[in-house]
Amino acid sequence: MSKISLNAQILWGTLIGVLLGLWFSQLGQDSNITQSGMYVAKLVGTLFIDLLRMVLIPLVFTSIIVGVANLRSHRQMNRVWQGTLAFFALTMALAIVVGLTAANLLQPGGGLQITLFQDAMQGFQATQMSIPDFFAHFLHSLFQNPIAALAQGNVLAVVVFALLFGIALVVGGERYRNILTLMQEALELILMLVGWIMRLAPFGIMALLLQLIATQDTGLLTTLIKFVVIVMGTTLFHGLVILPLILYLTTGMTPLKFWRGAREALITALATSSSAATLPVTLRCAEQHLHVKRDVAGFVIPIGATMNMDGTALYEAIAALFIANLVGIELSFMQQMIVFLTAMLAAMGAPGIPSAGMVTMVVVLQSVGLPVEAVAILIPVDRILDTVRTMVNVEGDMVGSLVVQEWLKRDGADE
Ligand code: ASP
Repeated sequence: MSKISLNAQILWGTLIGVLLGLWFSQLGQDSNITQSGMYVAKLVGTLFIDLLRMVLIPLVFTSIIVGVANLRSHRQMNRVWQGTLAFFALTMALAIVVGLTAANLLQPGGGLQITLFQDAMQGFQATQMSIPDFFAHFLHSLFQNPIAALAQGNVLAVVVFALLFGIALVVGGERYRNILTLMQEALELILMLVGWIMRLAPFGIMALLLQLIATQDTGLLTTLIKFVVIVMGTTLFHGLVILPLILYLTTGMTPLKFWRGAREALITALATSSSAATLPVTLRCAEQHLHVKRDVAGFVIPIGATMNMDGTALYEAIAALFIANLVGIELSFMQQMIVFLTAMLAAMGAPGIPSAGMVTMVVVLQSVGLPVEAVAILIPVDRILDTVRTMVNVEGDMVGSLVVQEWLKRDGADE
């Protein structure tokens, strides 16, 4: 057994990854050391993500079924549903308000000309997606043959099928006791696998961060520096002030206690830029470190990982105003309200994978008549912004599970 705790190992992994990344970018891509280092980093980083993905689908499937089936009384099930959806909608709305306020005050992109980016925009094909199309596509992706969804790793369709399966188990009652026990045991086994995979986390995180930093194009980053700083700053404000404040006011848990329990998941989110890949770790942190009951965490967190994205919602709102400034269009209050609604929709519809938010942003831009090709401008900075917004997305899911648990307790419905 190692003497250093896993948390400490992960923090060391993060630090060493960042330092090695900086060193490799100093050495340049042609150096032998960089090339061999990057090769190893790619192997280890990919292995870590593959392992997380390996357990993701069985984990989502079993944890939702067990979560729903254990919320046995109907009254309680309604409460959890309502509480979860209300929390998601409220926090995403707050995130967008923060984003819009900052963008209106600080006007990112004000001094820049869209012509600067002509090259980037040429040759970029943004798929046209109107709001009705987007909605139809979203609805269609909810219901699929469960075997195909499981095999293709389609998280949203698996979530929906597992929800229905869990509800059927509740309605069917005692008769299906064996299936429920089977699911419970399968869930425990998969969580054991997650525990093993986490031993690799310090190395996986080191490798992923190293690659991210060593491959950053700093030239383009500086052109967009004001935009990057505003997005990072407001996302961090949401993650460091707003979410902890909501948590403290509802549950009395201090931010420090929360971060101590949540940090494995937060750092994994930062390194993988994927809420879905981080989900096994998020669930583990919520249950084992933050002591959220399995039923509540198993329900709130997988759904949150696909739908609740505060960081993404905030990003979509700021980016829309940024692009409007670049093309010299001033968005009216009404248009900003449309941005508000579509940013929420686009964040909910974005799957928890890297850069998904940038793709669904097309919906927001189109809704107010902004050029969708302008998404291309964001490509060079998206990787770096994705790290922080995914971290806040995942933080929102964990805070959500704690808040919903508290609401249930106050309601006297958790017994
Ligand atoms: N990468 C984000 C996530 O997985 C989604 C996004 O691109 O905004 O949570």
